[in-house]
Amino acid sequence: MKVAALIVAGGRGERAGDKIPKQYKPLLGCPLMAWSVAAFANAGVGQIVVACAPEHADLCRAATADGPAVQIIDGGATRTATVRAGLAAIADADVILVHDAARPGLTKEMVRALVAEIERGAVAVAPALSVPDTLRRADANGRIVEDVSREGVMRMQTPQAFRADVLRAAYAALPAAQSMTDDIAVVRAGGAEAKLIPGDAKLMKLTYPEDFAMLERMLGGERITCVGHGVDAHRFGDGEFVTLCGVRIPHNKGLVGHSDADAGWHALVDAILGALGEGDIGAHFPPSDPKWKGADSERFLRHAATLAERAGARIVHVDVTLLCERPKIGPHRDAMRTRTAEVLGLPLSRVSVKATTTERMGFLGREEGLAAQATATVERPA
Ligand code: MG
Repeated sequence: MKVAALIVAGGRGERAGDKIPKQYKPLLGCPLMAWSVAAFANAGVGQIVVACAPEHADLCRAATADGPAVQIIDGGATRTATVRAGLAAIADADVILVHDAARPGLTKEMVRALVAEIERGAVAVAPALSVPDTLRRADANGRIVEDVSREGVMRMQTPQAFRADVLRAAYAALPAAQSMTDDIAVVRAGGAEAKLIPGDAKLMKLTYPEDFAMLERMLGGERITCVGHGVDAHRFGDGEFVTLCGVRIPHNKGLVGHSDADAGWHALVDAILGALGEGDIGAHFPPSDPKWKGADSERFLRHAATLAERAGARIVHVDVTLLCERPKIGPHRDAMRTRTAEVLGLPLSRVSVKATTTERMGFLGREEGLAAQATATVERPA
């Protein structure tokens, strides 16, 4: 039997508010999508089609470049539309497996078990798990409406395998505007019977950022916690304000620097880069480059956060200490904390900003300039 796989990767990742959709993020150093491609290829699947959002075609090509050959096509506005596009791209197959890219814990054994069921005469088959928790239905106010029996209730996973003619006929019969959350629903709407086989906990759908770390542990990967440290100082000069941790503070002096001279965020950027082993801020944003003249340091901090995200790392906590006699930091501390938390996408409880003086000693005590130190605690793949 000729077997083809369609990986549905149309999600745009709005849910997590991320810049990079999850299907292109790394899991144990390998893009999420590449895991499923490898499993299908290792199981001997002949044609692998990946349907992604058109604006993410470059990300998709990069994520699959090092693995087995795949055909990348444009997905549609809904999951159902994306599967329709995928079916059109599969010319010649007896069995079609449809899989969600957000489930990277796929094994070749699972692929083979699904195909074997079709070979034995099933027309539609999917992995599924029972529900261990007690189930209740509640209203919007959290009031329990009724108890729900969990007997026979199953959590559906993917890939779902189909006899190609049955899947095509079911999609042809489905009204164009109708959208379904999986393909078993589509063939059942078309009157076909579907079979379930035991699912796999590792086939969990990665939805929240912490799901990545959980699956990495299930797959035997090691994650480590690293602390990066950063230091910065800027000289006082003429001016009417200083910018520290993204907050403009009126002062009788300004800070001299190539960018906006935000020593707090510069130290923090170096701390994050340090935890990632990514060099220092000067290497990423050379002061010799006129492009960064007067630059808002928010840009540098966002860059560090993006590098962390690309590395599959999670910023756990940051702590910035500002060292100066004046201006007084206390009245602006909460605003600095809030701005820093916003830019890094962290809850306030994981961001600390504090200040100290040097008891009038040294260059800080003479108010020649201002300095900052920062640490960033980052959890990342080993
Ligand atoms: Mg600096």
